[in-house]
Amino acid sequence: MNIGAHIPSKNAIDEITKRKGDTFQIFISSPQMWKSPKPREDVDILQDYKGPIYVHAPYLINVATPNNKVRHPSRKLLKDTCKVAASFGAKAVIVHGGSVGEGGDIAKGYENWRKAIQEVESTGMRILVENTAGGKNSVARYMDSINRLWEEMEISMLDSVLIPVIPGPVAFQQKRQ
Ligand SMILES: [Zn+2]
Repeated sequence: MNIGAHIPSKNAIDEITKRKGDTFQIFISSPQMWKSPKPREDVDILQDYKGPIYVHAPYLINVATPNNKVRHPSRKLLKDTCKVAASFGAKAVIVHGGSVGEGGDIAKGYENWRKAIQEVESTGMRILVENTAGGKNSVARYMDSINRLWEEMEISMLDSVLIPVIPGPVAFQQKRQ
């Protein structure tokens, strides 16, 4: 079993070595900004790391929302994050399930998720959907909503979306192949 932590992105390998971890999660761009990650200067060092590396996508991303002004940049930022994560061989990108907001149609949220997955598919990056502890119209909160998202995702990309059931950090849960 790999044990790890969410660590600072800069000098990540030194940071995880200090903590004696086997694996780690990092942000590769500001989690609070609509700004795509830059290519990593330490791509070789990250590629050589023996354990799995996970990337947490920015918090602002909500690919489920009916609001175009949030959904479109969310898809782009998720895709750009996946591209950079793929460049150094990250194991997966973790992204919050998102919500359709007050009065939103949750069925639309799942449909939007399907579109988002289709868009990032070409990057080859695995997506881990993090379930959320709050929000009335979250697409990945309760067992039934998580199950529904799972079913929807299977339509387009069977092995690439993992939905852990415990709210909170999920970086180190992996589906057995
Ligand atoms: Zn998270």
